[in-house]
Amino acid sequence: MDIQTSSRTELIDITDRVRALVKESGIKDGICVITTRHTTGGIIVNENERGLRADILDLLEALVPENKKYAHNSIDDNADAHLRAVLLGMSETIPVEDGHLVLGTWQSIFFVELDGPRNRTVHVKIIKA
Ligand code: ZN
Repeated sequence: MDIQTSSRTELIDITDRVRALVKESGIKDGICVITTRHTTGGIIVNENERGLRADILDLLEALVPENKKYAHNSIDDNADAHLRAVLLGMSETIPVEDGHLVLGTWQSIFFVELDGPRNRTVHVKIIKA
């Protein structure tokens, strides 16, 4: 799926789009693997609540400050985005049962933009069990 991000850092909830792909696949039991090929973005599962979304970005800033001296910044000035992506990871794997993603009530799937705004791609693979 294609995603147009609008800020340097932001969380984009892609749960509904992933659910639609699961439904479209017709697969009742299996696994859904959500990945991104970008090195400055991540895939996570957590609650979609405005304050928490801000807290997650604040956590990333606290752990990996944007304005610090990094070796990679001599190349393209986005080392913080790569390092934050390392912490988040590039995939999530979610079971599919009875045609539905096995997610808790408060769990949403996010693409996390770390060096936007950009056009991004998320790959969703649904495998029959
Ligand atoms: Zn870079």
